[in-house]
Amino acid sequence: MDKEQKKELEAYIVLALILSGGIYEIAIKRVKSIYSKQAKDLDKILEVVGGKILTSWAEDRLVISATKGKEALDEVNTLVTKLMAEELKLETKTLTDILGEVAAEQYTAQGYSIGLGLKGYKYSDAKLKTIEEIISERVDGMNWINRTGVNKAQLEASLKDEIAKLMKGESTPEKMTRNVKKQFGMSAFDTERLARTETARVQGRANEEFAKENGVETQLFIATLDNRTSNTCQHFDGQEFDVNDPNKPIPPLHPFCRSILSNIPERGWRPTTRRDNLTNDTVAWQDYEAWKKENGVVNIYTDKKSKG
Ligand SMILES: [Zn+2]
Repeated sequence: MDKEQKKELEAYIVLALILSGGIYEIAIKRVKSIYSKQAKDLDKILEVVGGKILTSWAEDRLVISATKGKEALDEVNTLVTKLMAEELKLETKTLTDILGEVAAEQYTAQGYSIGLGLKGYKYSDAKLKTIEEIISERVDGMNWINRTGVNKAQLEASLKDEIAKLMKGESTPEKMTRNVKKQFGMSAFDTERLARTETARVQGRANEEFAKENGVETQLFIATLDNRTSNTCQHFDGQEFDVNDPNKPIPPLHPFCRSILSNIPERGWRPTTRRDNLTNDTVAWQDYEAWKKENGVVNIYTDKKSKG
């Protein structure tokens, strides 16, 4: 590879990194349709509880006959079951679509950028079966579809429990409403954590697959230059690894991890620039530690807050 080619290749790998960031951002935006369904379901449940149960609330207790009470509770529980099944279906379908596209786009972005950089370079296409395997891969014995099912079942059980407590006089309308909103809030947070972590995982796995299929030998760990980067990711930032190293760190290394293990053309290769995520500027290549020192950055997770 001559100097000119190297320069060209650099530009394209930087392009691959930008594409990778773009693929992630687009994926996360698409998850919003899930949140709007969750918000509607919360409103619907509170509305039906209001109409069927809270109308019988007088002073500080529920005044309702056993028959009517049972009827109302059955109706609310049936609604909760139905809405949770709809949410599970929607979330599984939406995330399956998003993650499938992420895997294919990430793989193509790798080939596209490296292919543009090297004249005559042809990369092999991602296989459909590989993409399916990447999406459904298990981490710690469960994949994201299993986790979504568990989260939804937990939400369903806790919603029913809150409403049952109200019926039994163990709660108040205010307390029930507060707790139901809280449960939905926790569920939305689970969805976001899962979507972000899974998107990062699928991107990482697509890079791995590209490396395997196309003879890439070396990878570079790139974390994010800002004040939220985890201790582990700060430590690995700027280190290179053999593709076949069984101990190499493959992101995501923790929930919400934003690091990547980027395919690079050869040992010792580094981009000349990178993005400073605090200022949104392009800065000369340096590792996290050097960047942090130079800019006096205080990391919100790993640096003790100074007193005063
Ligand atoms: Zn990380």
